[in-house]
Amino acid sequence: MVRKAGSAETSRLRVDLSAIVANWQALRARHIGAVAAVVKADAYGLGARFVAPTLYAAGCRHFFVAHLSEALAIQRYLPGAMLAVLNGLAPGQADAFAANDLTAVLGSLAEIDRWTAEARKRGQRLPALLHVDTGMNRLGLDAGELQTLAADPGRLDGLDLRYVMTHLVASEIADDPANAAQRARFAAACAMLPPMPRSFANSSGIFLGPDYASDLARPGAALYGLNPTPGLANPMRQVLQLDCQVLQVREIAAGDSVGYNSTWRAKRASRIATVPLGYADGWPRAMGNRGHAIFDGARAPLVGRVSMDLTTYDVTDLPAVVPGVWLQVIGPGRTPDDIAADAGTNGYEVLTSLWTRYAREYVA
Ligand SMILES: *Cc1c(COP(=O)(O)O)cnc(C)c1O
Repeated sequence: MVRKAGSAETSRLRVDLSAIVANWQALRARHIGAVAAVVKADAYGLGARFVAPTLYAAGCRHFFVAHLSEALAIQRYLPGAMLAVLNGLAPGQADAFAANDLTAVLGSLAEIDRWTAEARKRGQRLPALLHVDTGMNRLGLDAGELQTLAADPGRLDGLDLRYVMTHLVASEIADDPANAAQRARFAAACAMLPPMPRSFANSSGIFLGPDYASDLARPGAALYGLNPTPGLANPMRQVLQLDCQVLQVREIAAGDSVGYNSTWRAKRASRIATVPLGYADGWPRAMGNRGHAIFDGARAPLVGRVSMDLTTYDVTDLPAVVPGVWLQVIGPGRTPDDIAADAGTNGYEVLTSLWTRYAREYVA
C-alpha cells in the first residue's frame, strides 16, 4: 500500500508501515508473552487508520486506545481482535462498548459495577481488563478497592476477565527502584484477585528483562521508533520522515536579524532558507535557534524563532539549497528523540503534536 502525497504539497510526512511491523516483530522476539499494539492518540500521531490494520495483517490481535471514539474509528478494521480502551468506562458508555464488542479497562469499583450491570442487562459475559494502580495514582483500583474485591469476588460476575494490568511509572530508567516496587505490588495485587492472565510492560518495560514479562506487553512508543532504552543505542527502526520544501532563500548582510524579536543575528553575510513548518504544525516553538535540518547529509542550523507557519535555516554553507529543494527535518539522521532533546520535551510529545497540514504518504 502506497498512498502518494499530492505533488503540489510543500511539506511531506512519510510513514514507513513496514518499519512499524518490523518493530512490533522485534518486540515480540524479546518478550516471552504476547505483544499488543498501543495505537492511542491516532497511533501517536502517525495515523491509526493505517497503522492498526497493518499490524493486524502482521498478526497482532490486541490493541489499545485511550478514548471510546478512537476505538470506534478503527474497530471495523480489526475483526476478532481485542480492542481495549485505557481511559476506562465512563458513565453512559457501557452500551456503546458492548454494542461494538470493545473491551473495557476497569479501574474502579464504579466501572466494574457499570460493566457487570450491562452484562446482566444483556445476559452475556462482557470482556474486561482489570487495571490496578501500583504507583501512578492516576487510574486503576487502589488498595482499598482491591480489598473490597478480594472479599467479594462475586462482584466480578458477568465479566470475561481477559487480563489484569498495571502501568510502570519510570520504566525508561532501568535502575529506578520504582520498577521493582511496582513489580512486587503488582504480584501482591494479582494474588488477591481470581487467577487471570497479566499485562505489565510498556515499551521500556519490555527492555527491563524477563522479570517484567507478562502474558501481554503493551508497547506504543517503541513501535513508532522512539528509543525505549534512553542512554543506550536505539534498538528500534525509524518509521518517520518529514521533508519541507524551501519557499525562499534570502541573502542577508552581517548584522541583519532573522524572525520575530530578532533573536538571531548574522555574524557574516548569510543565506537563509524559509520552509513551511511552524508551531501550528506541531513543530515545537521551543526549537527556536536550536537543532538543524538535513540537506544531502549536511546540517543546516535552525536560526531565529519558530513562527506559526514558518521556520528558517542558515544555509550559507550549502549553496545547493535553492527555492524548491527539500530539507529533511525528521528522518534517520534527525529523530523525534533528537528533536525532543533540543525542545526540552520527550519523543512522545513530538510525535503526537505533528498536526494535519502535511501531505501524508504511507509506505508498505
Ligand atoms: C500509553 C500507554 C502504554 C504504552 O506506553 P509506551 O511507553 O508508549 O510503550 C501502555 N500502557 C498504558 C496504560 C498506557 O497508557
